[in-house]
Amino acid sequence: MARPIGMGRLVLARALFGCVVIAAWAAPSGMCAAQPPRFDGRRAYEDLVRICRLGPRSSGSPGMARQQHLLTEHFSRLGARVAFQSFDTTHPLTGGPVRLNNMIVSWDPDAEERILLCCHYDTRPYPDRDRLRPRGVFVGANDGASGVAVLMELGRSMAALRGRGGDGERPTGGVRYGVDFVFFDAEEFVFGPDDAYFLGSTHFAEQYRRRPPKHRYLCGVLFDMVADRHLRIHMEKNSLQFAPRVTRSIFRTAQRLRIREFVPTVRHTVNDDHIPLNRIAGIPTCDLIDFDYPAWHTTRDTPEQCSASSLQKVGSVISQWLWEGPPRDAVAAE
Ligand SMILES: [Zn+2]
Repeated sequence: MARPIGMGRLVLARALFGCVVIAAWAAPSGMCAAQPPRFDGRRAYEDLVRICRLGPRSSGSPGMARQQHLLTEHFSRLGARVAFQSFDTTHPLTGGPVRLNNMIVSWDPDAEERILLCCHYDTRPYPDRDRLRPRGVFVGANDGASGVAVLMELGRSMAALRGRGGDGERPTGGVRYGVDFVFFDAEEFVFGPDDAYFLGSTHFAEQYRRRPPKHRYLCGVLFDMVADRHLRIHMEKNSLQFAPRVTRSIFRTAQRLRIREFVPTVRHTVNDDHIPLNRIAGIPTCDLIDFDYPAWHTTRDTPEQCSASSLQKVGSVISQWLWEGPPRDAVAAE
């Protein structure tokens, strides 16, 4: 995660309890199973540990290359199409070229209406908020691996979520749009206060705007720092401003599932990869982020600070939300 803008005023959101989400996207009745496939938080946590064991994964590093290899194998094996969107930047310290790669994992790649689920997969080069070791090793368990872990486990459910995991004859219901998992590079390839953030998501958003592809993203969800063992995800102010319907629909889903770690009040205003997606690409995108994380940008951001239970909660909410689909007005009007 990159940069907080400051603590927002605590605003009590409208009472959202009791809202009925109309499953406007669900498959025709009789073809829809009651529940989405179960998201396995324990397995997602194992993914998080596996990613951290690759070592620091800052842009252009050997650890990043190992991660790209692991993720390519993982998602290809699950039947997704894997592609890289590559471009170059200048290393802030050496001035030399660095190749950056956004990784795009597509489910139902021919579908023209798509949902974007994304995270950053680079880690900050140094744990510069660490009082004792600001040039120590930063593995980015929560700030880096947590979003990756959610998408790795979600990938195992995609066949069933897309209605391909039933008896082979009838679809079981679920999301009927194409889905892209996008892993942004260089969210924080920063060494000093003047270095730029969000290079990967900005490039992705600019390409989408300048050279519009055949497909259209209806909405997006960004996962950043979602594994804190003391999880508490508040609505984020920019998300509420740019993508109010998407944001509210996710928190409504959490409330119906009685997942109280999703708190429908605004607490922080955060600059993150969702800003270029909203501002440049015009894709209404919500940032799910737990910004109250004492180990942020320190050597203590390790798997011990994270939990399977937290990943389970985030994964369950997003599985259910995908399964039902956000209400139509969430994707049409923003
Ligand atoms: Zn960060």
